[in-house]
Amino acid sequence: MKGFKTKRILGLLFAIVFILGGMGAFEANKAEAVTGSSAASNKQASEKEMNVHFIDVGQADCILVESAGKYMLIDAGNNDDADTIVDYLKEQGVKKLEYVIGTHPHEDHIGSLDTVILTYDIATLIMPAKGHTTKTFEDVVSAIEKKKLSITDPVPGKKYKLGDSEFTILSPKKGKDYGDNYNNWSVGIKLENGKNRFVLCGDAEKDSEKDMLDSKIDLKADVLKLSHHGSRTSTTDAFLKAVKPEYAVISVGKDNDYGLPDEESLKKLSENKIKYFRTDELGTIVASSDGNTIKWKNTSGKDSKNSNAGNINSSQSVKRTGESATEAQAKGLDYVININTGKFHKPGCSSVKQMNDSNKQLYNGSRDDLTGKGYDPCKRCNP
Ligand SMILES: [Zn+2]
Ligand SMILES: [Zn+2]
Repeated sequence: MKGFKTKRILGLLFAIVFILGGMGAFEANKAEAVTGSSAASNKQASEKEMNVHFIDVGQADCILVESAGKYMLIDAGNNDDADTIVDYLKEQGVKKLEYVIGTHPHEDHIGSLDTVILTYDIATLIMPAKGHTTKTFEDVVSAIEKKKLSITDPVPGKKYKLGDSEFTILSPKKGKDYGDNYNNWSVGIKLENGKNRFVLCGDAEKDSEKDMLDSKIDLKADVLKLSHHGSRTSTTDAFLKAVKPEYAVISVGKDNDYGLPDEESLKKLSENKIKYFRTDELGTIVASSDGNTIKWKNTSGKDSKNSNAGNINSSQSVKRTGESATEAQAKGLDYVININTGKFHKPGCSSVKQMNDSNKQLYNGSRDDLTGKGYDPCKRCNP
């Protein structure tokens, strides 16, 4: 009986995706209009604001994108992350989600998607045409049915507008059957705000990366979220060369069972002088783009999800801050700003260890940029 029910649900899901094939033309037209208008208003590039929040959900993915008061959520952590995610979205003032992308049917990406769907109005839900027999996936399908939502099929090359920003679908390849390698079904996107670009591809592995390269869509970006939590099965040399990011983000749980991220992936990043940020070390990471430059913050300050975050006492959290800063320094972080005092420090400065997490902003860039922006060098560490 269970098998029958699953089949029925999957059948329905595919039917929905199929029906929506017709929507493609409409979206494509809209996208052309977007491209036209952004080209015309190039001079306003520096006024475009976009924030990309890599929410700390332990060994899982959850990314919130905000531009001009419009929101998109990419993935929704594990099943037990619903409160973390909804609380975070509430804190950010999210009332409606313009887009929700469930990259692929693994629990660490769609775990709390059912709750997100039941909690928020969603304008466009994008998911790959690949079902799963798990309870987690069935829960998502039930939530979709309950809200009478339709599923939009990801078509590489298609563009969508989000506030001042826009994104292009990169993967999975249209019509390709990746079989039961669920990771390769991941919906990948290139997110653009002015001159800043982010490539975010769920858990896409090398087959999908090859298809993205073959698609000839320009993959060059400032920021790459390492696919599959920094596993060696993703981020091939050719893909990394094409994206050529300045920064990488790894969404990964502390002491996870899979030993992720793989050393090999980290080595590739350092060899290519790519600065990277990890959610297991920094908690939630926020990249703010003004259309020209990207600033980094880690807002949560709390320890990663799998420890008893609510019970951290101040000495533990101070110690943690110090460790993060030291590790960040080892990976090429340039400065740490205290946004409260307006002073900037070397990452290893003793003041950084005492700094309140909510005042701390990580900064990669030149000393001149910082003084130009009105920040003063710390007298203790003389950065
Ligand atoms: Zn996966
Ligand atoms: Zn995953």
